[in-house]
Amino acid sequence: MAYKPANEIQDLQYFGEFGGVNPSISDSSTYTFLSAKTMFDTFEGNADGCYLYSRHSTPSNLYLGEALAAMEGTETANVSASGMGAITPTLMQLCQQGDHIVSSRTIYGGTYAFLKNFAPKFGISTSFVDITNIDAVAAAITKDTKVLYCESVSNPLLEIADLEALSALSRKHNLTLVVDNTFSPLSITPTAHGADIVIHSLTKFINGSSDTVGGVVCGSQEFIDQLRNVNDGASMLLGPTMDSLRAASVLKNLRTLHIRMKQHSHNALFLAQKFEADGLRTVYPGLASHPSHAVFNRMMNPDYGYGGMLTIDVGSLDKANALMELMQERNLGYLAVSLGFYKTLFSAPGSSTSSEIPEEEQAAMGLTDGLIRFSIGLDDDIARTYRMMRACMESLGILDAQPQNAIATS
Ligand SMILES: *Cc1c(COP(=O)(O)O)cnc(C)c1O
Repeated sequence: MAYKPANEIQDLQYFGEFGGVNPSISDSSTYTFLSAKTMFDTFEGNADGCYLYSRHSTPSNLYLGEALAAMEGTETANVSASGMGAITPTLMQLCQQGDHIVSSRTIYGGTYAFLKNFAPKFGISTSFVDITNIDAVAAAITKDTKVLYCESVSNPLLEIADLEALSALSRKHNLTLVVDNTFSPLSITPTAHGADIVIHSLTKFINGSSDTVGGVVCGSQEFIDQLRNVNDGASMLLGPTMDSLRAASVLKNLRTLHIRMKQHSHNALFLAQKFEADGLRTVYPGLASHPSHAVFNRMMNPDYGYGGMLTIDVGSLDKANALMELMQERNLGYLAVSLGFYKTLFSAPGSSTSSEIPEEEQAAMGLTDGLIRFSIGLDDDIARTYRMMRACMESLGILDAQPQNAIATS
């Protein structure tokens, strides 16, 4: 039977202090101890279930972490104030001075900037590779390599990491495979394909309401304990802690993630097929033309589809900008970065979310000027959305006007 990670979230049961159907929200920065000895033990890391101070953990954060760990099939998880607040402590915890990381070259702009510009200040170097070329990944590994880093579905080019092949390589060289699964929650379960640590920006699909930033690291109890260690844990010492009120609110949104992902995926597949048939260069993992369509099929939990992200290339930045402005004017979505909202969001990655990546490197990885990245919304009538988007493209000369009878039958 197909794996359904949403069941793992559904099966968790925790009541509020007074029997509320939602757990009570912890509203304290610090916690009392009945005995001084227990306080000492907690600082030493040996008093399970005791709370110390809210930068370390809180009941609300643990509830959310438990649900996300269940979804990703890891022993436990640590939530953080943002996705970057999950990524940077993880890499700082796994690496020390002199260590080396092999990373996909098509990753979130902030992660790229961290690895390229910030981590070298601490003697941590990174080789950026085409993650779909396993030989190139293998060739980049050195005796100092500690981490293999990728996104299961990459930002913004929607390349698919073959996690089974990467994990085999990672095991062979004794590396830690860290996978950012922000673009494909529920659709792909990276630990089922050998990932050691799974990260999400909760800001996107998981929270889904574009009202906060948040992040999570899902991993072994041992690794999460290391991150939270009061003496040398990067999450504890760098301090990217999520607030309890926010953790409670993200947990409530997480419960509808499976319904939302199905609708995002359904709508995105519909539009991708139409755009491709119209002759637009369209990238979507659910299209047979996607170079890693078969890899995605092999890894996916089919119930949740191919996700809500797609890109089209309309030829130039000017045309991309004009189209995005017109679509916004006609209320088809918002010209905004980020993803996972109920409305469609669109942006031109080359001049926005991936602008950290130098122009010649953008060109090398196929990040063209006319590229528009869409996060497709939850529209109830996606056929109407398509007709209205098509009309925008026709009025800007991106597509030729269709003969009337063709419109009637499409
Ligand atoms: C947004 C994003 C991040 C960063 O998350 P924040 O919550 O903005 O800090 C990391 N990875 C991916 C793939 C993202 O889309």
